[in-house]
Amino acid sequence: MESKLEATYVSVVVPVFNEENNLEILHRELSEALKNLDKKYEIIFVDDGSVDNSFQVLKKIKESDKSVKIIKLRRNFGQTSALSAGFDHSKGEIIISVDADLQNVPSDIPSLISKLEEGYDIVNGWRWKRKDRFLTRKIPSAVANWLISFITGIKLHDYGCTLKAYRKEVLKNVRLYGEMHRFIPAVASWMGIKVAEVKVNHRQRKYGKSKYGISRTIRVILDLITVKFLISYSTRPLQIFGLFGFISFFVGFILGLYLSYEKIILREAIGGRPLLLLAVLLMFLGAQFITLGLLAEMLSRTYHEAVEKKIYVIKEILDEDEK
Ligand code: UDP
Ligand code: MG
Repeated sequence: MESKLEATYVSVVVPVFNEENNLEILHRELSEALKNLDKKYEIIFVDDGSVDNSFQVLKKIKESDKSVKIIKLRRNFGQTSALSAGFDHSKGEIIISVDADLQNVPSDIPSLISKLEEGYDIVNGWRWKRKDRFLTRKIPSAVANWLISFITGIKLHDYGCTLKAYRKEVLKNVRLYGEMHRFIPAVASWMGIKVAEVKVNHRQRKYGKSKYGISRTIRVILDLITVKFLISYSTRPLQIFGLFGFISFFVGFILGLYLSYEKIILREAIGGRPLLLLAVLLMFLGAQFITLGLLAEMLSRTYHEAVEKKIYVIKEILDEDEK
């Protein structure tokens, strides 16, 4: 009787794009891992516009298991969007993301959850002994992990691992675009979160093909620039643009002064001086950067108001009057 009213504790979100042969095995393994927790759970499969039989297979799975939900997207939107759709529809206190291709191992989920319960907000899987191509996968990924850790200040060994566990409040405050699902720990860091890492297993892909090639690296690097900007300057863009602008304008101005001195006091011709070009360029650039910064300030205000995004996140309020 009580179990009916019980609130969902764990939501597992699985992005699916042409994975027909993996889904039944995955569902079996997930159910085994989750049943042992003895808490109410749901498994949300997000069909990201598959063109094979994935959706039919999912429907069959759903018939035999009430904890399964399916979200079918209209077309292929990409892994980040699929995850995002799943996150938006999950009810659990704890949300787990996992790949559909059986490369992540569901029996690792309980260890992620118990780590989260120790008081962390995100627990990131770290694919220990990763089973992927060395040259096109492991090397770019090692560089990317180092770079992302260095630039965002959140040091993780394996940003690219989909197997992660989150508290639901964390995801509520994060909006995802581009290839950004891998950056959630970094994007969320602005609100002050505790991130932990847990070593997880990794298997080779048996059925179906990987959906990505080496070109993903470039997209990830571009997203990194966005993420850094969002974390550090989204509420004060003028401070970064203005800094460059100010320095550039100042150097140009000094050069201009010096040239004016030569022209007016020393009465030398300055028309043929390359320095003149540099002075004009630097001052021009400086003015451009500063006005760009002002525009960005206005954009940032519209952005924060349009999505009703606060510039802070509260953990709790202790006040008898506040309900
Ligand atoms: N995926 C998706 N939409 C896409 C590409 C991939 O939902 O457009 C899913 C895919 O089905 C898998 C996961 O994202 O569950 C990871 O994809 P993949 O295994 O191809 O990436 P890799 O492990 O090679 O990095
Ligand atoms: Mg994979």
